[in-house]
Amino acid sequence: MFRIRVLNKTCKQRSGILSFVALLLLTAAGCSQANTNQATNPEQSPKVQEASSTPASSATGKTKVVTTFLPMYIFTKAVTGDAADVEILVPPGTEVHEYQATPNNVKAIATANVLVKNGLGLEEFLENTIKNAQNPKLAQIDASKNIKPLNEISPVEKTAKEEEHEHAQGNPHVWLDPVLVKQQVINIRDGLIAADPANKAIYEANSANYIKQLETLNSEFEQTLQKTPNCTFVTFHDAYPYLAQRYKLKQLAVVEIPEDQLTPADVQNAVNAVKKYKVKALFSEPGVDNKLLTSLSTDLNLTLRPLDSLETGKTDPQYYFQAMKANLQTLETACK
Ligand SMILES: [Zn+2]
Repeated sequence: MFRIRVLNKTCKQRSGILSFVALLLLTAAGCSQANTNQATNPEQSPKVQEASSTPASSATGKTKVVTTFLPMYIFTKAVTGDAADVEILVPPGTEVHEYQATPNNVKAIATANVLVKNGLGLEEFLENTIKNAQNPKLAQIDASKNIKPLNEISPVEKTAKEEEHEHAQGNPHVWLDPVLVKQQVINIRDGLIAADPANKAIYEANSANYIKQLETLNSEFEQTLQKTPNCTFVTFHDAYPYLAQRYKLKQLAVVEIPEDQLTPADVQNAVNAVKKYKVKALFSEPGVDNKLLTSLSTDLNLTLRPLDSLETGKTDPQYYFQAMKANLQTLETACK
């Protein structure tokens, strides 16, 4: 049983080498880098920047929390409920890995009480944005505090010469492991309590409730995936090493796909890399154009299945469970 999951390292190498084809593969696989402003779910964006210029706490009297991208928004909102005003900097459907901050992002941070980030080097845009915001009162919550990052867990197949762009801080996709999300929720809860002690009881109750759901989700993953031990896969988006390690899936390789100026030889290399690992399924991601991955799967006679890295989607805190349960179903089917 081989499931290949060819990963695009940390979705980082947009050195301009990846071509159109690769780009589709990458995006299809999860790093929707292409058009930074092309939100695939615009109607689902929370009050992204409109409210950003509102002075902290002034409009509603609530603590103003800015979060970086979708999972951080979801987990923060799960903890706060309506007790705080929560905003998102990177609109869902916009690539986070290579995000370029906007002036409204700077304004949002300038007027916020709290900033919640994933950390582990994911939000490269933050450093300068925070500097420009000049908000000495800003409390920052690193949701990945006390989480031990993973580095590469499988070989990386390069399909074209590219600039190396490694993450010194390890793979940032910890939100795809429900057990690590518990720690993220705890970090967010504790940071919010420190910044806004008046709402301590609410933050504690909400986070306890969410953690209970995460534990249930974890049990479902364990029970389902233990039936197919060492299910093997490859992906084009290096988003799943934590999930793979948690549930003993075996990630064979990360296949990197060139982004720009893809030559026929590059395409052939990608096809060969996938063939080499005897993949049975290719994973795409929802909300992106999968045409290329579709044609690749046809060429290779492989089933294309959706796997959601949660970098885009709905902002409802329950969306995490919907998407992860769909992922579980996909893995169960693919691992049989
Ligand atoms: Zn990613």
